[in-house]
Amino acid sequence: MTNEATSTVVTEVACPLCGHACDDLSVDTAGKGLTVVAYGCDRARDGFARLGGVPTNASARIDGKPASLEEACAEAARILAGAQQPVFGGMALDLNGARGAMELVDLAGGIVEHINNEFGWRASRAVQDGGGINTTLAEVKNRADLIVLFGTDAVSRQPRFFERTVWVKESMFDFDTSSRHIVYLGAGLNTAPGVSPDGRQPDVFEFDRKRMPEALSVLNALLAKQPVAGEAPLGIPLARWQALADALLAAKYSVLVWTASAFDTPQVDMNVGAIAAIARKLNVTTRCNALPLAGNDGDSTMGAVHLWQTGFPMRTSYASGTPKFDPLHNGLSRLVANGETDALVWLSSLNDTVAPPSTGLPTVVIAPPTQKLDAEPHVFIPVATPGMHLTGHFVRTDKVVSLPLRALKKSPLPAAEQVTAAIVAKMKEVGA
Ligand code: SF4
Repeated sequence: MTNEATSTVVTEVACPLCGHACDDLSVDTAGKGLTVVAYGCDRARDGFARLGGVPTNASARIDGKPASLEEACAEAARILAGAQQPVFGGMALDLNGARGAMELVDLAGGIVEHINNEFGWRASRAVQDGGGINTTLAEVKNRADLIVLFGTDAVSRQPRFFERTVWVKESMFDFDTSSRHIVYLGAGLNTAPGVSPDGRQPDVFEFDRKRMPEALSVLNALLAKQPVAGEAPLGIPLARWQALADALLAAKYSVLVWTASAFDTPQVDMNVGAIAAIARKLNVTTRCNALPLAGNDGDSTMGAVHLWQTGFPMRTSYASGTPKFDPLHNGLSRLVANGETDALVWLSSLNDTVAPPSTGLPTVVIAPPTQKLDAEPHVFIPVATPGMHLTGHFVRTDKVVSLPLRALKKSPLPAAEQVTAAIVAKMKEVGA
C-alpha cells in the first residue's frame, strides 16, 4: 500500500513536451531524474528522464571554459550591446521564459524565430488572408463524429491524440465516441491508432502526400458540386472521393486535422487555405472545424507572448526601434545567409534535441545542460526546465488553455527568464 505522505510519486502532472499538454501524468521524483510512471507516452518518458535530471557540475562556459553565471551573462550582454540586429532562435520556452526573452529582444533590437516558425508563419499567412474556423480539444472529444486527418497521423506530432481526445470513454451529450469515423489522407502514416476500440478500421486514402493540393482541390470541387476530371484522381476511384464529400456533408460535427510541418513546406499556405475553404463550405449547412496540431516546443506559447506584448507575430525586427513585421525577410536562415544579422541567441528550455545552426556568428546558447550542440558556442548558459524544475505555464495546441506547469524537483540552475533578466541588467549597466 502506498503511503501518500511519503510517496515520491506526484500525480496529475502537466507535460510540456508536445502541444497536447496532457495533465494526467504520474511522475516519480525519487532518484536522480524524473520517471513517468503512469499515463505518459515514449516522448514524455524520455523527456522527463533526460531533462528532469539535476546536474551537479553544469556550469556556464565562455569559449568552452567554465565561467560563473555572472561572467557569462556579462559576456552575452557585451555581444548583444555590440550587435545591430541579433536573431533569437530556438525559443522553445514556457510563458515566463518567453516574456523574459521579449524584454531582451526589445532591448537588443532583435528578431524572434521559433524553431517551428518556418511552417508556422506560412500557416498564419493563409489564415490572415482568408480566415479560419478552428475548434478545441474539448469540442473534438465531445462532439466530433467524423475526423479527417490531412497528411498527418496526429500521433507522430502529439502521441496521445487518439487516447486523450478521440477514443475517450466518456463524453458529454451521451455521444458514443467509439462510433466516430476516422479518415486519413496521404500515404506512409501510422493509421493503427485510428482503429476504433471495437476494431473498426479507418478509411485510408493512400497517395503521395506531396500531392495534397490536388486532393484538397478534388474535395473542394466535389463539395461545390463542380465536375472533377478523370475516373480516379490520385489513383483513387472518384466514387470514394464522392463518398468522403458526402460523409462530410452528412456529418453533424466534422473535424479537419492538420499540422503545418507535415506538409511540403512551399505548399503549407496553399493547403491550409484549401482546408479552411472546406470548413467554410460545410458550415453553410452543418458544422465543421479545423484542428491545427500546434503548440509543440512551446511554439503557441512563444507566438502568444510575442503577439500580446508587441501586437505583431514573430519575424518582426526591433532593430530600428520601430517594429517591422516582414515574414519573408526576417527568417533566421535568410538573415544568416544574407549577412543581415550579427549575433545569434539560442534560447530553449523545453527542447534540447535541436542544435543551434552553425552560423559563424557570435553565439549565445541558453538551454538545458543536455542541449545538443554541433559546435561550442561563444557563451553557454545552462538553465532549468519548466514543468520539471520550475513552475510555469504552457499554451496548449488549441490555444484556449494555458496549463500550469509544476516544479517537481529542485535544480541548482537558473530559469531562462532569470538569465535573460541578468543580461538585460548588464546591458543597461553599459548603457545599451
Ligand atoms: S502526448 Fe505530448 S503532452 Fe501528452 S504525455 Fe506525450 S509528449 Fe506529453
